[in-house]
Amino acid sequence: MRKPIIAGNWKMYKTIQEAAEFVESVRDQIPTASDVDTVICAPALYLPTLIDIASDTDLAIGAQNMHYENEGAYTGEISPKQLAFINTDYVILGHSERRQYFNETDEAVNKKVSAALANGIVPIICCGETLEEHESNQTEDKVRSQIKAALNGFEAEAVKHTVIAYEPIWAIGTGKTATADDANQVCGVIRKEIEELFGKECAEAIRIQYGGSVKPENIRELLSKEHIDGALVGGASLQEESFLALVRNAIGE
Ligand code: PGA
Repeated sequence: MRKPIIAGNWKMYKTIQEAAEFVESVRDQIPTASDVDTVICAPALYLPTLIDIASDTDLAIGAQNMHYENEGAYTGEISPKQLAFINTDYVILGHSERRQYFNETDEAVNKKVSAALANGIVPIICCGETLEEHESNQTEDKVRSQIKAALNGFEAEAVKHTVIAYEPIWAIGTGKTATADDANQVCGVIRKEIEELFGKECAEAIRIQYGGSVKPENIRELLSKEHIDGALVGGASLQEESFLALVRNAIGE
């Protein structure tokens, strides 16, 4: 049985004051980490503050991106070593907004996954198809090739501790959610691909999230499906009430 993982992706929202108040308020209200892993992925600028506020609680804090080098002349970037030093638990990698607006390639995502693993940070690796690909039946090919590229060169032992997020791009921030059955079907394709690449044990252990307009009202049905082990949530993670409702509903509390 895979433990569910619910991660909020705050993107470029909130001031540091709003972020700190949010974490202070939810940190003691979330269900125990033995039932569900709960993560907030915040703007990098806020991480030390939020990690401090959430320390010794069941709430984990993650970043939304990072460079793949530990250090170097990369103006404006943040390194895995820097994130690890402040005890960042997770990092979202290859989000479609990074791929689309910041030209992040499969190759870069692969290097970032490697760097995250080397620094003890759990990568949440995103994949997903565009509306055009969706409508022309290319979803399976797209996610399989993204997953294969992102995980190229790793051992099953490392891969099973990563998290995959399947996020159809047409469902992100649009209010359109894939049906639970469709999302489950694609998550099943991803699990099959992982089985082919890394074996059955790894495929059964790895957690696959669905993302794209997940809300407290639809999370239960999504998570009731065989291959969906959690959710990566943007909009609905920004309010304390709905974030708490997401996590509680995820485990039927
Ligand atoms: P959304 O975003 O929940 O607002 O659709 C999801 C994401 O981008 O991770």
